[in-house]
Amino acid sequence: MSVEAGAALIFARHLAKTYQLGEQAVHALRDVSLDVMPGEFVAIMGPSGSGKSTLMNLIGALDTPTSGTLMIDGAEITHLGSDALAELRNRTIGFVFQQFNLLRRTTALENVKLPLLYSRHRPPDLAAAARARLEEVGLGDRIDHLPSQLSGGQQQRVAIARALVNSPRLILADEPTGALDTETSAEIMALLERLNAGGLTVIIVTHEPDIAAHARRLVRLRDGRIIEDIPVAQSAWLQAAAHGAEAR
Ligand code: ADP
Ligand code: MG
Repeated sequence: MSVEAGAALIFARHLAKTYQLGEQAVHALRDVSLDVMPGEFVAIMGPSGSGKSTLMNLIGALDTPTSGTLMIDGAEITHLGSDALAELRNRTIGFVFQQFNLLRRTTALENVKLPLLYSRHRPPDLAAAARARLEEVGLGDRIDHLPSQLSGGQQQRVAIARALVNSPRLILADEPTGALDTETSAEIMALLERLNAGGLTVIIVTHEPDIAAHARRLVRLRDGRIIEDIPVAQSAWLQAAAHGAEAR
């Protein structure tokens, strides 16, 4: 293993993912190579169907590639069985979704506690650990609320607290602001920026240039391939897209 592969949180070489639909092969990803180092903040963009969710599912160890090499936190995932994959996910990755995916009849505190029940490294006081995460996202005074008693932005904060509760190295967020208004989206992105500034690696998928502008690195996909991978500040495409969105 090269030093580079060992230091990277995500080390992907020539990843391909092909879905077989009857007679037809759908090439969701073709020859994707990507490294993500600890502490990065990456935005993945691309048209619908370009392979964003497929790539997130691979990076999140939720699925395995058809071919290529994928190491997550130093482990080659194609060598891991399903138990080891689950353990890697639980220990290393926190997931955040567009629709928050909270349990509806369950309080904020219980929602955040849930991943700890499946963890091998349980803190002695689960409720205290969950409460600390809710305080970290600014919801210390809402711990006994049900999702229906919280705004969309507050629900997404609960989901972020839940993603953080096992102290992951990486947060993966697929359209985390897709269900939120502009102002609330900016608040959620400010929270992700603050977590990233504290050392957490963050990878988001978004359609919105203004949201991607909060990240530091932009990866653009088209037809299952990476067509751009540069610092956000250097992307003329992103600046033009953000400007266009402003003008509308
Ligand atoms: P995006 O998230 O960028 O919209 P996806 O990664 O969901 O794109 O999909 C990439 C391509 O793979 C699309 O053509 C999609 O139809 C196809 N695809 C995704 N998941 C499956 C699946 N489970 N079975 C067959 N085709 C799939
Ligand atoms: Mg998608």
